[in-house]
Amino acid sequence: METSTHILNTLQVEDIRKQFPILKRTIHNKPIVYFDNAATTQKPMVVIDALSHYYMHSNANIHRGIHTLAEEATAAYEATRTAVQVFINASCTEEIIFTRGTTESINLVANTWGRKNIQEGDEIIISEMEHHSNIVPWQILCEEKKAVLKVIPISDEGELLLDVYRQLLTSKTKLVAITYVSNSLGTINPISEIIQMAHNAGALVLVDGAQATVHLDIDVQKMDCDFYAFSGHKIYAPTGVGVLYGKKALLEAMPVFMGGGEMIKEVSFVKTTYAELPYKYEAGTPNIADTIALKAAIDFMRETDVAMIHQHEKELLEYATKQMLQIPNLRIYGTAENKTGVISFLVNNIHPQDMGVLLDNQGIAVRTGHHCTQPLMHRLGIPGTVRASFAVYNTMEEVDRLINGIQKSIKMLL
Ligand code: PMP
Repeated sequence: METSTHILNTLQVEDIRKQFPILKRTIHNKPIVYFDNAATTQKPMVVIDALSHYYMHSNANIHRGIHTLAEEATAAYEATRTAVQVFINASCTEEIIFTRGTTESINLVANTWGRKNIQEGDEIIISEMEHHSNIVPWQILCEEKKAVLKVIPISDEGELLLDVYRQLLTSKTKLVAITYVSNSLGTINPISEIIQMAHNAGALVLVDGAQATVHLDIDVQKMDCDFYAFSGHKIYAPTGVGVLYGKKALLEAMPVFMGGGEMIKEVSFVKTTYAELPYKYEAGTPNIADTIALKAAIDFMRETDVAMIHQHEKELLEYATKQMLQIPNLRIYGTAENKTGVISFLVNNIHPQDMGVLLDNQGIAVRTGHHCTQPLMHRLGIPGTVRASFAVYNTMEEVDRLINGIQKSIKMLL
């Protein structure tokens, strides 16, 4: 293995790994190498502890009770809202709406802001590299409203063609819904420039931050996005909790999403008035435990040092890319200049699933298939890829095991 100057030294990575109990597992009698982090990250003990602590000590429904448990649960739930606000630098906690994840956050905007503001002939712009969850809600909306969905194409390297984007923007463009980081290619899009161009054309911007939030510093005010969506489970938190950030004035003006308890001020059979932000969009009993554990995940990232995490992942990416390119006939999909720790690849005409199964037999977890980006796969002319994606607990030795694993698999398949 090559010696490296990566900022997280071996001992620090070992310390981090100790915090993730699942990494002690063996798969097919081999120590697990988990390279499916873009699908979901593993959870540190502090997150698992936060879940069990809540159920063992503070379980109660929130916002309604005056008893001690209800107050504790409410305080912990709202503490996460503050932690998220600080983490993404929103200007106030009213701008932080808890959802089930990125998918629900995007659907919330499509169903509320979209239903109210999109008219026949209006245009919504997405890109060729979007995840299905940032395509389908807009397709549904455009179909219903007879609006037009336009798509920014990409280059063969997997970068957005910004000149074409500039031409797609018209006075009819109402929204640009764009991913910050591609889950299939790893491309980091020039988000501030994209937002600026949309705003100049009078359009709003929703940023799909599902893949970006764990890899990049997120500052929604500096970015100046109008909406920002992400999922807890991709930043070391549990599944089932996510966030929609929206600028306060926009969230205030939007119609409600789901109706029910918690989101009302007063209900009568004649008229119902709605709660203030952020509760207006949080109908029913929310996912209390997982939301509380999201704060533990954010604390974990901050305590580990977000900048060091990012640098470590970058070095894993550089090392893995260099090693992989030595393998004959291996092609990497997504060679943008600006990338996060995701490598999508194919070798010869080996089916991604065959490679995935053989790697799993060697204890190595990768993702195979279209990664919920079928239009992107269509653009690339392939059915899918094998995708390795990195997180803070991954090591250079694990990259070596992946490289060996690919070479072994090739020998068995060709
Ligand atoms: N957008 C991107 C770019 C993603 O990678 C994902 C998850 N793979 C999503 C949206 C959807 O996230 P979730 O399934 O957590 O709602």
